[in-house]
Amino acid sequence: MSTNTLFVEKLGKQVQIIFDTKSLRIQSDATVIVPQQKKSKKSRSCVCLPTLEANDDLSSSASSSLPIPHRNILHANYNARTNMVQLNVLVADKPSDPESTTQLFKFMYTVKDNEQEKATAFCHNIMTSVYQDLIPEKRLLILINPFGGQSKAKSIFEEKVKPVLEAAKCKLDVQYTEHRYHALEIAKGLDIESCDTIVTVSGDGLIHEVINGFLQRPDAREALQKVSLGLIPAGTSNSLSISMSGEKLGFDATHNALQIIKGRPLALDLCSITYEDNRYFSFLSQSFGIAAYADLGTEHMRWMGDNRTVVGLMQEIFSKSTYQMEASLLIAESDKEKIKQNYKSGLKASEWKSPAVGDGTVQDTIPPLSEPVPENWTTINGDISIFLASNVPLLNRGMLSHPCVSANDGFIDLMLVRGGKGIGKQLSMFTSVDTGKHLDMDMVEYYKVKAFRLKPIVKPGKNAYVAIDGEHASTKQFQVEVHQALGSVLSLNPTFINTNVQ
Ligand code: ADP
Ligand code: MG
Repeated sequence: MSTNTLFVEKLGKQVQIIFDTKSLRIQSDATVIVPQQKKSKKSRSCVCLPTLEANDDLSSSASSSLPIPHRNILHANYNARTNMVQLNVLVADKPSDPESTTQLFKFMYTVKDNEQEKATAFCHNIMTSVYQDLIPEKRLLILINPFGGQSKAKSIFEEKVKPVLEAAKCKLDVQYTEHRYHALEIAKGLDIESCDTIVTVSGDGLIHEVINGFLQRPDAREALQKVSLGLIPAGTSNSLSISMSGEKLGFDATHNALQIIKGRPLALDLCSITYEDNRYFSFLSQSFGIAAYADLGTEHMRWMGDNRTVVGLMQEIFSKSTYQMEASLLIAESDKEKIKQNYKSGLKASEWKSPAVGDGTVQDTIPPLSEPVPENWTTINGDISIFLASNVPLLNRGMLSHPCVSANDGFIDLMLVRGGKGIGKQLSMFTSVDTGKHLDMDMVEYYKVKAFRLKPIVKPGKNAYVAIDGEHASTKQFQVEVHQALGSVLSLNPTFINTNVQ
C-alpha cells in the first residue's frame, strides 16, 4: 500500500487526510470538535489536534498534524446518507511516551462532489490495513462485576470503555454478574459461535471464573481457541492486567479497551489444581503462608483497595508467623542465575507464540494424588513463611515477586522462603520486592517447576490459608500441573512486561 490522500472539507475549508503504511495524518484542521466523554452527551468542546512540534502538549495547535499510528485507528467509514467521512482514533496525550494515556477523537469531514467512490475506497483501505489479521467490529460479550474492587466497574465501563468500543463499532452484549460463579455459568453455557471475545470488567476473580467455565465444557479446547479473553481491570489487584501492561497502563481503561480492539492472543500457561475430590484451573497463583494470609485474611479491609495486602503482610511479619507444610516439586531449574539468563534471552526473542491447539477436555500427565510422589520429585518438609507459585510476574502493584515469569514457557515460577528468618530480614525482602531484587537474597529460593504437590500441616489453634488465584481454597493436600500455552488473552505485546532483572 502506498501513500493515499483524500481531500475533504470542513466548514467550507479544505482538509487533507493522508494515510500511509505507518500512520494517518490530518492536515489543515487546526481545531477539531470532540465530544466530551464525562459531561452530558450534548456538550462538545473545541480541542486542537496535537502536533509533532507541540512538545507533547495537547493544547498546542499547528497546521501539520500529528501522525496517528495504525494501532490507534479504531474505525474509518464513509456514510452516504450524510456524505461524510468519519475517522475514530485514539490520540496520545504525550506522543513521545510509549506509556502515554490516550483520548478518543472523532473526526468528521464532508466529501467533495463526485469523490464518494474515492472516499469509500479510502476508508476501506484504512480498515483493511489497520485490522490486517485481526477481527474488525468484534462481537463482544461483556461481563461486569458490579461489586469488584471498590465497586467502580460500572462507571469505568460506561464512562471510559464503552465509548471506545463503540467508536470501533464493536457489537456489545453487556451483562452484569448477579452472584458468585455467574460468569463461570455463562462461559460454560456460551454458544461459542455467538461472540468473538468475552470481556471481563472486574478483578482477577471473574477471569478465573471464565477460564474455569470454558474448561468445564466438553469442547474446552475449542472454546478457548475460538473465543478470546479480553480484560478491563476493575478489581482489587488486577494482577494479569498489570503483568501485561505495567502498573500505569494496566489500570488504564482506555488502553485496555484498545487492547481488546487491536490485541492478538497472548498465549498463557494455565495450571490444573487437583484435590482428592475436586479439580479446577488456575491462571495466576497458588499460595500458602503469609502471602496467602495477606490475600485472604484481609477481606474486612476491602475499603483500602490493594493496600490491604500490604497491611496483611506487615501483620504477619511482625507476629513472626510461620506455616508448616510438606511440598514435593517437579523442578525444571533451581539455579537462580540460569533462570535469569533464560528469562532475558526469552524476552529478546519476544515473538508471538501461538496458543496450544487441541480439542476436547484437558488431561493431566502427572500421577494422581492417590499415588506416591514420583522419585524424580524433590520433597521439602518444615516451616516456611512464603510458598508462592505464580504464572504472572506482578501479583500486586509494587510486588514484583516473580520477576522471571514468562507468559508461556510451560513452567510455574515458585518463590519459597523458609521459616524463622527474623523480622528484619523479611522486611528487607519486602522493601526490595518492588524491583525484583529480593531474588538475589540468599533466603529467597526461586524455582521453575512443571508440577508440585502441597500438603499444608495446620498448627493447632492457628488459622492457615491457601489462596488460589487470590481466592480461598481448601487447606487439604492438592497438586498442581502446568499446561503450556493452554489459554490466551488479547494483548498488544507478545510478552508480559520486561521486569529488567539483572
Ligand atoms: P476483586 O478483584 O475485588 O476481588 P473480582 O471482580 O475479582 O473483584 O470479583 C470478586 C468476586 O466477586 C468473584 O469471586 C466473583 O465471583 C464475585 N461476584 C461476581 N458478581 C457478583 C455479585 N453480583 N455479587 C457478589 N459477588 C459477585
Ligand atoms: Mg510460565
